Amino acid sequence: MRSRTVAVVVGHDQVEQGAYSEALGVHEWEWCSILGRQIDDALHGLELNSLLYQRSPGGGYRAQMARLTEGINAVQPEICVELHFNAGITWPGACALHWPGSVRGEEAAAALSAACAHAIGGPDLGAVAQDRSWARSETVEGQLRPAGPELWMLKWTSCPAAIAEVFNGSHAQNARAADKARNNNKLAVALALAIRGLLDGW
Ligand SMILES: [Zn+2]
Repeated sequence: MRSRTVAVVVGHDQVEQGAYSEALGVHEWEWCSILGRQIDDALHGLELNSLLYQRSPGGGYRAQMARLTEGINAVQPEICVELHFNAGITWPGACALHWPGSVRGEEAAAALSAACAHAIGGPDLGAVAQDRSWARSETVEGQLRPAGPELWMLKWTSCPAAIAEVFNGSHAQNARAADKARNNNKLAVALALAIRGLLDGW
């Protein structure tokens, strides 16, 4: 019997709120908290068992993600989706990250990126494997190290997982379009339908 359980995770936390969008005057955590609640509602409306997660502050990033993924793995979801937005880049668009080699993770990332791009009206930059992202590994003084923060959400979850970078907060037009699509619930509905489509296909 399949669980039809979806873990929806709000990126960052109240203390470490992530990137700031000048165009919207908001950090990732606050913006994505609202989107997360909307997706959770939309998933329940599609009769999926959605659970909404927030990071609990304290202990550092690695410890936070260990606590969070342990809690998520305990409920054995079929998919885990974490919400963020990009910043500090010039190009608009949505993308989603997945664990390298995870076939369903890549499928999920592609579907979520497409859903964001379609609902917002910006470019679909598609699925990006972690090792091809800003969180790729690089060799520093002969040692392999992550160039950015390790994406424990992708590594430690025992189900297909994707990190959606919903839009670029540093691109004013893309940010305003994303805000509009969130506020009229179009974005959340598009993401919930994409998630249901993935589960139906699996
Ligand atoms: Zn983020």
